[in-house]
Amino acid sequence: MLSKRLSRLKAYKTETTEAKIRLSSNELPYDIPGELKTLILEELKKLQLNRYPDPHSQELREIIGDFFGVPPENLMLGNGSDELIYYLSIAVGEFEQGVYIPIPTFPMYEISADVLGRPKVCVQLGSDFDINLEESLRRLDSEGAVLAYYSYPNNPTGNLFTREKIERIRDRGLFTVVDEAYFHYSGETFLKDALEREDTVVLRTLSKIGLAGLRVGVLIGREEVVSELNKVRLPFNVTLPSQVIAKVVLKEGMEFIENAVKKVVDERDRVFRELKGMKGVKAYPSRANFILFRTPFPASRVHSELVKRNVLVRNMSYLPGLEGCLRVSIGKPEENDAFLSALEESLKSLS
Ligand code: PMP
Repeated sequence: MLSKRLSRLKAYKTETTEAKIRLSSNELPYDIPGELKTLILEELKKLQLNRYPDPHSQELREIIGDFFGVPPENLMLGNGSDELIYYLSIAVGEFEQGVYIPIPTFPMYEISADVLGRPKVCVQLGSDFDINLEESLRRLDSEGAVLAYYSYPNNPTGNLFTREKIERIRDRGLFTVVDEAYFHYSGETFLKDALEREDTVVLRTLSKIGLAGLRVGVLIGREEVVSELNKVRLPFNVTLPSQVIAKVVLKEGMEFIENAVKKVVDERDRVFRELKGMKGVKAYPSRANFILFRTPFPASRVHSELVKRNVLVRNMSYLPGLEGCLRVSIGKPEENDAFLSALEESLKSLS
């Protein structure tokens, strides 16, 4: 018999609509160059697919450790950071203890808590999309929570929460997960805390820097925290091809990644300026590789008008406080141009 809990759950929604220009999943718009793919093919040819992968992803953890300036003992890898979010929801506190989540944010924090039947303390962000500290502390006093999730910068609003607010909430004894999926676009981090404190971990991912297809997420924390968390990790959670491909790209493709990230950051600032200049559009400043914007029209109608023009963005209006909002991932310059003119035409056709 399936658990009654399942009837109250919703599966994670992905955007699957067909469109030529896909700006809906915050991926890097540039695929890795052909020479790197040739190197990857050479490595893949050597693989013994009848064998299990290294259960500890030792070599890959060393390479990722070098990349982030962290010893491999402080790293645990996941099948995407999604999996690491699950592990944290399983491992921190007891299932009857609450999970604090400032909302609107990345839905996996709530989904993982719901799957386990954990109580949630979801507190609406202020109108500036920063944490509402007073309300959060009040709710934590009355409801209690032991685990806190922060998307830093926050998906889908794009801003960084005030660091001191995260610290003040942590002072109430909450184990703090700082999800830095967009770190490469913001440059801001809690890494030092994750290496110094037993109550803080940082999550990173290779998904936003060109390797979303591999599913490699990274948890950074103190060695004793990582080795405890390892007890809930599935043994071969990072596949053999993913380990091999990630190793090649991180060893040989750093220049490609750095250039691509820089281009996206420049484009983000340009797209923001263009959106700000567009009549009726409110764009929110972003430290990530996407921009949230609001129009006076129902978001579902704007979304379909854009799809008609072959541009796919994400309708965010289902999240609390984001009525009329859509999120556009930053693409290549020509994709961003196509989005901007499609949006202008869509808004004209709706008014
Ligand atoms: N955290 C945040 C804040 C995200 O936006 C995403 C991806 N949309 C993830 C985690 C999941 O990343 P991964 O591909 O590593 O599972």
